[in-house]
Amino acid sequence: MASTVDTKRYWIWTVGCQMNKVDSDRVAETMRARGYIPAEREEDADIVVLNSCAVRESAERRVSGKLGNLQQLKQDRPETLLVLTGCSVSPDFEATRKRFKGADIYFQPTRLDQFTEALDKVWPLPSDPGIMACWQEQSGDTEEQGPCAYVPISNGCDKLCTYCIVPYRRGREKSRPVFDIVEECGSLVKRGVKEITLVGQRVNAYGRDFKDGTDLADLLTLVHDIPDLVRLRFLTSYPKDMSDKLIETVAGLDKVCEHIHLPVQSGSNAVLENMRRGYSREDYLALAQRIRRAAPNLALSTDIIVGFPGETEEQYAETLSLLEEVRFSTVYVAAYSPRPGTLAHRWEDDVPKEVKKERLQRLDALQQRISMEQHQMLKHQVTEVLIDSAQSERKDLPQWRGRTRQNRLVFVPRGDQDLLGQTVTVRIEKVSPFAMQGAVA
Ligand code: SF4
Repeated sequence: MASTVDTKRYWIWTVGCQMNKVDSDRVAETMRARGYIPAEREEDADIVVLNSCAVRESAERRVSGKLGNLQQLKQDRPETLLVLTGCSVSPDFEATRKRFKGADIYFQPTRLDQFTEALDKVWPLPSDPGIMACWQEQSGDTEEQGPCAYVPISNGCDKLCTYCIVPYRRGREKSRPVFDIVEECGSLVKRGVKEITLVGQRVNAYGRDFKDGTDLADLLTLVHDIPDLVRLRFLTSYPKDMSDKLIETVAGLDKVCEHIHLPVQSGSNAVLENMRRGYSREDYLALAQRIRRAAPNLALSTDIIVGFPGETEEQYAETLSLLEEVRFSTVYVAAYSPRPGTLAHRWEDDVPKEVKKERLQRLDALQQRISMEQHQMLKHQVTEVLIDSAQSERKDLPQWRGRTRQNRLVFVPRGDQDLLGQTVTVRIEKVSPFAMQGAVA
């Protein structure tokens, strides 16, 4: 393979959760530090990185399909490096290689050292420090930074929910030092970032591995103090780790937005037990109440799995009634798919596909009704929106896209004024279950 000093171009393809997007940013940063630059199109890249997701079977199928499609590129340009990372890559590289054939480099998402080590073998860095400095200057920090940024604060998970592959792929929970995080957030704000989301698989267990009492509430307080930061968020929270201290901190800090993503997964105690979530329906409802008492304006969003092994129609109905009771702002629903390596994979996947699909659709319809009712209540009201992109909801209409503090999506017409990164007051005029439209008031 080539090992010339010419500039390499990279392309990154990402599926999966926010954590994966954050990891892709780190991979891009690593490559920029080596002097590589982003390619304009996948087919022009010298190195294509696939950042995969193993949480659902459908996501893994997409990864296999993508890798298969890229073999044509590899045939046309054999020197192109194909790299696979993300949750599909297990510590057993041989097993991964068998399941996902056709990549040149495999590395675990938390192990950038495996990536750089492999790259060093194919495209060694020049030993002349002068050339290296020139490379880094050339690559620079050219990626344009939008107004919203995600900052990883922990990785891995110490829980073992029976359906989840994450602990097997990302390992034990590891928190980043407070100083590193605050410094990174500070430099992002200096580059124009207005909203920061702190991310981790179990973000509200942050700091537990330090064993000195530092927690997410302390971290939020420190990041909150960064001048010119406008909004602060965090995800994903695990219900059992939502301490009173954290709830009070969220309610008390102005910049922390009134939104918490709090996956419940099911409304049935029997299913929750089979999932080993460690809380009951009653615990979750009491927690939702505690949060809302402290921050009445706060929106809760959640994740639900339907068709978990053994889920009866009655148990499923309990999930529907939980939705009615909590009235989430958004629900991300998925039909259960067994993930090899997890405990639930050993159980019979006994809810037929059509039943899962039908449960998913019914739940979706219920949530659409709830979201629509919530959005209707906001009609003709004014709300604060941070404009995050010039992305339109309709192709024929130039619009700005933004989010309220409760994380609701809002579109406003795009006029002459550049509103990107601005916090504006919007009067809501039209609503759908998924988004709202309005005008700058
Ligand atoms: S807490 Fe979340 S990431 Fe951890 S095992 Fe459970 S579902 Fe997976």
